[in-house]
Amino acid sequence: MRSMTEGLFCPGFDRIEGRKGRGRDLTKALPAKVGRAREVFMKLKFLGTGAAEGVPAEFCDCEVCREARRRGEREFRTRSQVLVDGVLSVDFPPDAYCHSLRFGVDFSKLRYLLVTHSHMDHFYAHDFVLRGYKYARGLSAPLQIYGNGEVKRVFDECTRREMRPDVLPGLPFSVVEPFVPVEFGGYRAVPLRARHARGECALVYLVEGGGRRYLHLTDTCGLPDDSLDFLERYLADRGPVDFAAFDCTFLFRAGGPGARHMGLPDADALRAELFRRGVADGHTACAITHFSHNSAPLSEEVERAGREYGFLPAFDGMEAEF
Ligand SMILES: [Zn+2]
Ligand SMILES: [Zn+2]
Ligand SMILES: [Zn+2]
Repeated sequence: MRSMTEGLFCPGFDRIEGRKGRGRDLTKALPAKVGRAREVFMKLKFLGTGAAEGVPAEFCDCEVCREARRRGEREFRTRSQVLVDGVLSVDFPPDAYCHSLRFGVDFSKLRYLLVTHSHMDHFYAHDFVLRGYKYARGLSAPLQIYGNGEVKRVFDECTRREMRPDVLPGLPFSVVEPFVPVEFGGYRAVPLRARHARGECALVYLVEGGGRRYLHLTDTCGLPDDSLDFLERYLADRGPVDFAAFDCTFLFRAGGPGARHMGLPDADALRAELFRRGVADGHTACAITHFSHNSAPLSEEVERAGREYGFLPAFDGMEAEF
């Protein structure tokens, strides 16, 4: 089995697990300071770490996709979704149902959904018509959805044909604005302006819960100054984030002018900026995710990227507790 931690910059962890690292106490491979006994306050599960088309890409016959198909499930990267503590999801892609099957996740327990933007790989609203009526039993609480105005329009459009009037009240939707925090179930989420979509205000999120902070940075290329300024001010008396996940669609290649995603040089520069502003520090674990088949993200390449740039290379099913 490949080592996941050799040379990685991933302090702050109590435990990292998943399909590839199952059963291994990775704290043993980390510096003593990091492996110290500490109560766990937030659990992340990376359910999908691919870009819009997935790896292998749905309709692609390139060499990388052929190789990913040949190797099988361990190389699959489905569409982006991160689960926090089993109750809060960042994005809800077309693969969400398969995520629940593949990783044993029970979405009847899902209470909160933060949607970054309306692109199809981040918000598949059609599924929500199944949350009630004869399709779902035993639901005791609504699923509260947060997203921008365009995400709300997509929700309305995609559920219009099949949504039942008795199911809709279980899916309250709040339109959020950048830099206006929302609070729910012991969490606080701050929407931040991303640099990503045309025609809508794409968001990334700072999620706080249990005294821990997770910064979700996909899809974006760097961050606009107002988001960086806000984060710097907001965290000045709270302290740096514990975990940050960076868009890495282009893997080794830089995004270039006008890019809407990042490669390692961009993620590295953004991380340095976060450090400079006190948003991240030496205890922050920094992961890369959201990989495109165009950047040939077979596991050995993503792990090499992690080693060379000091990021934790996320994979479908990876868990982190801190
Ligand atoms: Zn995306
Ligand atoms: Zn391909
Ligand atoms: Zn997008």
